[in-house]
Amino acid sequence: MGQIKQYFKPLIILAIFEAVAVTLWLTKHNIFYFFNFSYIGLSVSLGIFLFIKKHKHARRIVQLLVGTYMLVYLGLICGENMQIEGFWYYLFTGVFEAATIHYAVAKIFGPLIFGRGWCGYACWTAMILDFLPYKTPSQPRKKLGWIRYITFAVSVIFVSALFLAKAGNIERIMFWAFIAGNIVYYVTGIALAFIFKDNRAFCKYICPVTVFLKPMSYFSLIRIKCDKDKCVNCGKCKSVCPMNVDMTDNSRKRANGTECILCMECVKNCPRDAL
Ligand code: SF4
Ligand code: SF4
Ligand code: SF4
Repeated sequence: MGQIKQYFKPLIILAIFEAVAVTLWLTKHNIFYFFNFSYIGLSVSLGIFLFIKKHKHARRIVQLLVGTYMLVYLGLICGENMQIEGFWYYLFTGVFEAATIHYAVAKIFGPLIFGRGWCGYACWTAMILDFLPYKTPSQPRKKLGWIRYITFAVSVIFVSALFLAKAGNIERIMFWAFIAGNIVYYVTGIALAFIFKDNRAFCKYICPVTVFLKPMSYFSLIRIKCDKDKCVNCGKCKSVCPMNVDMTDNSRKRANGTECILCMECVKNCPRDAL
C-alpha cells in the first residue's frame, strides 16, 4: 500500500497545476493558460514519478522540459519577456498577463509552498549552468550577495526609464531586452562558474529574482528536514549540496536556508535516510 501511496504525490501535484490551469483559463478566457499550466504540471509530475523510481536524471529532465519551453516557446516564439524586466513591464502597464502571472505563481507566492523549486526544476538560466563541471562548490561562499540588489534595481530603473521617456513600441524593446538579457545572464553565469568553480555562482551572487525568492521561500511549506535520531553527522549531505545549505539544522534560520533549490542531492546521498 505504501508503494502505491507514493505515486499519489505526482498525481496531487498534477491536480494542483490543473486547478491553476482551469481557473486561469476560465477567469482570463484564454485557453493558452490551460495548455501552459497543464504542460508544466505534466512535466513536474513526470519528474516526481522518475524521482520515486530513482531515475538519476529526474530533476534534469524536468528542468530541460520546462526551461526549454519557457525560453524557446514563450520567450523566443511568442515574444513574451519572461525575465524580471518583463515582470516590471506588465506590472507597470497594469496587465495581469504573461510575466506577471508567471512571477506570481513561480517566484512570489508559489515559493510559500514549494520554496525555490523554480530554481531547481524550471529556470532556463540554471538549466544551462547545471551542465557545467562544478556541481558542488569547492571554495567557501563569497560575501557577494549584495550584487543581486544592484541588478534588481537596474531592472526596475531600465523599465521605468522606458515609460518616463515615453519610448515608442516598448513591446518590441522588451522582446530585444529579453534576448540581450539572456545572453548577458548566460555569459556572466558561465564566466562566474569557471572563476569561482561553482555552477551556481550566478544564482548566489547576481540573480535579481532571488530578491523575491529568498524571503518568500523562508516560509516554504516544503523543505528538507533532518531526522536527528537517524543522522550520524557524517557530513555527506553538505558535501554534495550545490547551495551550501546546512540541511541538518531544522530551524528556518539555518545557514543558507533560503538558498535551497530542492534538488534532493542531499536526500539521495544520505547513507542513513535521515533527510
Ligand atoms: S537564482 Fe536566478 S538564475 Fe538561479 S535558478 Fe534561480 S531564478 Fe534561475
Ligand atoms: S548525510 Fe545523512 S547521516 Fe550524514 S550528516 Fe547528512 S543527514 Fe546526517
Ligand atoms: S542538496 Fe539538499 S539542501 Fe542543498 S539545495 Fe539540494 S535539496 Fe536543498
